[in-house]
Amino acid sequence: MVRIGVFKESDERKLTVLTPSGVERLKGKAVLLVQRDAGRAAGYTNKAYEDAGAQLVDSEEALLAGSDLVLSYGYRDLRNRHIDGKTFIGIFNFLWEPHLVAHYQRAGVGVHSLDLIPRSTLAQSMDVLSSVGSISGYQAVLLAAERSLATVPMITSAGGTLRPAKFLVMGAGVAGLQAIATARRLGAVVKAYDVRKASREEVESLGATFIEIEGSVDDRSAGGYATQQSEEFLQRVRQRIHEEAAAADVVITTARIPGKRAPLLITEDMVNGMKPGAVIVDIAAATGGNCALTEADQTVMRNEVTILGPSHIESSCAHSTSFLLSNNYVSFIQYLMEHQEQQDSDPILGATAVVRDGRPVNERILALQGAAQ
Ligand code: NAD
Repeated sequence: MVRIGVFKESDERKLTVLTPSGVERLKGKAVLLVQRDAGRAAGYTNKAYEDAGAQLVDSEEALLAGSDLVLSYGYRDLRNRHIDGKTFIGIFNFLWEPHLVAHYQRAGVGVHSLDLIPRSTLAQSMDVLSSVGSISGYQAVLLAAERSLATVPMITSAGGTLRPAKFLVMGAGVAGLQAIATARRLGAVVKAYDVRKASREEVESLGATFIEIEGSVDDRSAGGYATQQSEEFLQRVRQRIHEEAAAADVVITTARIPGKRAPLLITEDMVNGMKPGAVIVDIAAATGGNCALTEADQTVMRNEVTILGPSHIESSCAHSTSFLLSNNYVSFIQYLMEHQEQQDSDPILGATAVVRDGRPVNERILALQGAAQ
């Protein structure tokens, strides 16, 4: 039986990619090894793992030695470890850091990166980016509401009436839509913008106003993702968004392009024009940020405007994020076990495979590596 190992993530990450209920789902098909305390920060105890049927292992080394298939959230540096013959599954973001693939080019090593899963109905249950995006959008609104000097809903009391807060959401993909829904539930007035015209209907169905800006490139061959826009167009977006940002109490930015730097949507000038006490939460911080002043994982103050760039915002809801990710990972592992033999021709495994038998195989990443040379 295949032996599956689950690493403990770093203390800041807090997450686990396999919960005790995930262990139960895989039990009988695999031997499960879990590094001690892997789920502790997310609220899953060592005892819960043991009760579910996992064996606890005390060190990263012992985990690697005993596993064929190794699960983690993101990339970890294993250059000094013995990894020959093992297969790694994680959300490695190689489109952003393609040079890291070389670290896995060792004898018999396989790597599947789940951020490369196609956005198809067949792969929906494995869609880790949707899980992380949903939680990130929700958490960004809570963070902004907490940091804002004003309340979010309209409140009428003996002292007078407080107007509802105005939110501006940039990027209406999974995270942006969840941010809109959460802000609306709190009672905010919300406007949103996305380059993909298809998002208009979704924004409006959540009770927000869609900001229309003509002239974006909407590439239907990009698998539902946005494509990079011209600098001239982005300049036009900034001009239009300038006044919207000046009126907003909160700006949440979520705009990303797979494998590229996040587009710059909020300039320094725009921040200078915002209200004192306004808050920007930039959840594109890990890929450069949508706001010119964003510093990943730092709080930046500019003229009484607070700019937050949390790069692992999903870790703040570690219990829920782990629950979602564990379901995604289990679906992927079950699929991998069933379709192992047809890896080359399979639409999901063909897309996620980055290293096979020690060799880089992913065309998208090979193209990026070629472009960087
Ligand atoms: P993402 O995280 O890559 O990007 C977030 C949003 O930023 C996207 O909506 C994108 O259009 C937007 N954006 C990019 N450049 C921008 C710019 N210059 N200005 C404004 N907005 C900009 O994307 P995501 O949230 O992961 O979702 C991407 C797509 O995949 C969406 O169409 C979504 O509906 C779709 N999706 C499909 C499935 C499925 O079919 N199973 C699952 C999840 C998501």
